[in-house]
Amino acid sequence: MNCSFCGSPLHLYPGRAVFKCYCKALIHGYCWEKHVLASHMPPFVVGTITLYGEFKPKKPEKKEDSPPKGSVALAGKQKLE
Ligand SMILES: [Zn+2]
Ligand SMILES: [Zn+2]
Repeated sequence: MNCSFCGSPLHLYPGRAVFKCYCKALIHGYCWEKHVLASHMPPFVVGTITLYGEFKPKKPEKKEDSPPKGSVALAGKQKLE
């Protein structure tokens, strides 16, 4: 059996802790946290704490690449007649 995180055999160090994840992966004790972070990253919100201990989630950065409004419309369309 190999560690599903680092790929090294799990039996190299008999007696060492091996974690069995709920996803059925077998993982070295020292690879466990990395496996959880890499494979089961829980959803989270990044934010800041105010002076009052209030959690303020960071607003997702909005990229507004739309061209500025009021761009000059094609004025004076000429009709070729
Ligand atoms: Zn490992
Ligand atoms: Zn897992």
